[in-house]
Amino acid sequence: MKTQAAIIEEKDGRLRLEEVELADPGPEDVRVRVEACGICRSDLHAIDGGESVRFPAVLGHEAAGVVEALGRDVDGLAEGDRVILSWTPACGACPPCRRGEVQLCRGLRMSTGGDGPLTWQGRGLDRFMALGAFCERVNVPAGMAIPIPGAMPATLACLIGCAVMTGFGAATKTAAVRWGESVVVIGCGGVGLSAIQGARIAGAARIFAIDPIPERRAAALELGATDALDAPEAVGRIIEMTDGGADAAIECVGVSQTMLDAFNAIRPGGRAVVVGLAAFADRLSIPPIMLLTEKSLTGSIYGSANPAEDFPKLVALYEQGKLDLDALLSKTRPLAEVNEGIAEMREGKLTRVVLTL
Ligand SMILES: [Zn+2]
Ligand SMILES: [Zn+2]
Repeated sequence: MKTQAAIIEEKDGRLRLEEVELADPGPEDVRVRVEACGICRSDLHAIDGGESVRFPAVLGHEAAGVVEALGRDVDGLAEGDRVILSWTPACGACPPCRRGEVQLCRGLRMSTGGDGPLTWQGRGLDRFMALGAFCERVNVPAGMAIPIPGAMPATLACLIGCAVMTGFGAATKTAAVRWGESVVVIGCGGVGLSAIQGARIAGAARIFAIDPIPERRAAALELGATDALDAPEAVGRIIEMTDGGADAAIECVGVSQTMLDAFNAIRPGGRAVVVGLAAFADRLSIPPIMLLTEKSLTGSIYGSANPAEDFPKLVALYEQGKLDLDALLSKTRPLAEVNEGIAEMREGKLTRVVLTL
């Protein structure tokens, strides 16, 4: 069938709406009509670096919509179901999935290399994170469409599909923040603000938010940070204020220096978690003698999530008024204004611009 997508043809390029061809869903796939898709920093990363996609490509990986058609072998979903798209296939069969670490599923791909159901002028389109949801309709394996209860607006539900799960899970699952702990969150965009909310809901007693942009520090304080600091002297001050370092730190920027800051801001035995997506060639250097203090430094992907279990839990927290998603949604724009939305996200003042389709 014909559908409309925002296509990017080259690194640093602009996106353009084009009519594209979407094949029928395969036996284990579903077709989802996308209602809303957030613009995430990883989309900007893909535009700038060109490292994580093959052009021409369709970006967009933070989406919610409605199931429109089912492959013949799909059960557990029905036409009309409201879903949030997940970018881990959670195949259930590979060794990480069998261990219960579905966020590490071997089927997870940033780039599909142009293979798949979407073509344009006879060429295969890459779909970023195997979703490519800056498109009116997407085909995904049924396991990547997570049904959600309730009536929450798609413009908020979509945020759970990337930023919220990634940040909230980094705090509650990867860093496993416990009540009474002190937590540092570096970088207060959509992911960092979700990490702050995860830490707050987990019962952290003190939450330090670090960001150079005043608007983001203000948002952090609103969502549960107890202290908001500008970047340069933050780490030294946190070490002083916590008498030796925080229990946990979560880096949501993707730069070696802030990763080092996270490691330096934790106490002996503390946990530093890196969430930010670095450029592929970046290197991180840490004096190994520091490891004698039993500090740990670990990565986190997708907030160590099992989306099928965790998305509905986040929806429940939202419906109970505990998880604030409205504060993350800065603005909505129609898909046709995707370039304007990208420019606004680059300025860094807005938490999330969400495209409506
Ligand atoms: Zn993302
Ligand atoms: Zn798997």
